[in-house]
Amino acid sequence: MSQHLPANMVLPRTGIGIDVHAFAPAEDPQPLWLGGLFWAGEQGLSGHSDGDCVAHAAADALFSACGIGDLGTHFGTDRPEFAGASGVKLLGEAARIVRAAGFEIGNVAVQFVANRPKFGPRREESQRVLSEAANAPVSVSATTSDGLGFTGRGEGISAVATALVYPVTVSEPGPAKGAPHG
Ligand SMILES: [Zn+2]
Repeated sequence: MSQHLPANMVLPRTGIGIDVHAFAPAEDPQPLWLGGLFWAGEQGLSGHSDGDCVAHAAADALFSACGIGDLGTHFGTDRPEFAGASGVKLLGEAARIVRAAGFEIGNVAVQFVANRPKFGPRREESQRVLSEAANAPVSVSATTSDGLGFTGRGEGISAVATALVYPVTVSEPGPAKGAPHG
C-alpha cells in the first residue's frame, strides 16, 4: 500500500464495530448491563459475557481502526482470563492493546438500537464510565427502529460504533485470526 502524503502528515484511521445480543428469555432473569451501567429492573442480555453490546461495539471499532482484528482475535479462547469479563473491562483492555500497537485514540462514538432501557437520563453517566475505561472520549446515543425488526420487537439490542485513532509510533500489528465471540 502506498499513500502519497505530505511530509509529517499523519492520517487518522477510522474503524467500525457492530454487536448484537438477544434479551435472555423471561424465564431466565438476567441483570442488564449496557453502556457500562447496571440497569435495575430490566431484563438482561444473553451471551457468555455481560452482553454489553455498547462496550463490545466500541472495542471492536477500536480494533477495526487499527487493522488488528476484532473482539474474537483478542478475547478468544486463548485468553481465558477474559471469559465472562465485563464490557467495561474488555473496552479498557482493547484500549491498552490499541496503544501497545502504536496508536492513540481520538474518540469513539456508539449508537445502540433498542426500545429500552430509557437511556437519556443516564447518557452522561454511561459516557463517563466508558470514557474512563478507554481513557479517551466515548460518546453514546440511542435510537429505536420504529417497531421494525428484532430491536423493534424487543428481542434484542444492536449497537454500532465508530472509532478514530492515529498512529504515534511505527509498529507491526499482530496477525488477525478472527473468531466469533459470545
Ligand atoms: Zn457482544
